[in-house]
Amino acid sequence: MSQEVENTIIVGTGCAGLTSAIYSARANLGPLVLEGNQPGGQLTTTSEVENFPGFPEGIDGYTLMDNLRKQATRFGTRFEQALVTEVDFTSQPRVLKSADKTFLAKTVILATGASPRMIGVPGERELFGGGGVTTCATCDGAFYRDMDVVVVGGGDSAAEEALFLTRFCSKVTLVHRRDALRASPIMSKRVISHDKIEMCWDSVVTEVLGADEKAVFGVKIRNVKTDTESIISCKGVFVAIGHIPNTKPFARSIEVDDEGYFVPSPRSQVRSSVPGVFVAGDCADHVFRQAITAAGMGCQAAIEAERWLAESGS
Ligand code: NAP
Repeated sequence: MSQEVENTIIVGTGCAGLTSAIYSARANLGPLVLEGNQPGGQLTTTSEVENFPGFPEGIDGYTLMDNLRKQATRFGTRFEQALVTEVDFTSQPRVLKSADKTFLAKTVILATGASPRMIGVPGERELFGGGGVTTCATCDGAFYRDMDVVVVGGGDSAAEEALFLTRFCSKVTLVHRRDALRASPIMSKRVISHDKIEMCWDSVVTEVLGADEKAVFGVKIRNVKTDTESIISCKGVFVAIGHIPNTKPFARSIEVDDEGYFVPSPRSQVRSSVPGVFVAGDCADHVFRQAITAAGMGCQAAIEAERWLAESGS
């Protein structure tokens, strides 16, 4: 018996994947969504989302993702638990493999997201989300109004997060492991000269304090040059030490940049180097990384996939 060929397989169930699913399901493509290790994506690890348009009172991340999933299901999207580990995009239909199953599809939308890099110290995981450790100032900064916070990292993201947080917080301490920022000169200058930002150079966080209390009250710091330890009191810890795009199983078939992000074709945000294979969301975007921009890319990818099917007579 020959195996069924799907019109569209969507890999990933974050904002990009589920928006692709809503659009392709409403276009009668009957999409199959393959769900990996973190159903619902990064937003399910956030407590309150206040910047997704349409929710004047805010909405918690889990509910938002659950709503998107229900909306996709309503129009005929099917979901299957399958972590894709291998693909063959040289043949048509395209082939995707998980540990125990092979899937065939005429078009594929890769919306696999990116995982924030974490420091990996005690207290960080335990307090992640509602406890005071977060990876997104745009999402969570407003919850730390008039409080002291710590930002960890020395790149453009850390600089941007620190500057953004000065709008709300009483004091922002930027902890960086070296004595110079990696961020662009203009961002570095803004950060270093800001009167609400204090630099903590040559230092690493060795523990986030507050796990027993279920709320951050400080970080333990080690100066890597002097090997001395100290504690910085704070209510929030913003980890901004980069992201890891979830593109590894596809990187041999689809062009990725030096940091592993999918590279869309010229003049498109979502077309990949392989015809009929599209990319959407944080796996292809290291600049904006917002739920709404991921949703927008998911919408584009679904419309492009629908057009591709129509144009190729599939
Ligand atoms: P990044 O440039 O890779 O910087 C990561 C920072 O985290 C570095 O300063 C690094 O330290 C530090 N770091 C890495 N691992 C660490 C660890 N385990 N413990 C402590 N510190 C650690 O990442 P990013 O800032 O997310 O930026 C990613 C890309 O997006 C960059 O190309 C950036 O320019 C771009 N971006 C642009 C904008 C903008 O233009 N507005 C905004 C955000 C991001 P070292 O410096 O010692 O390596």
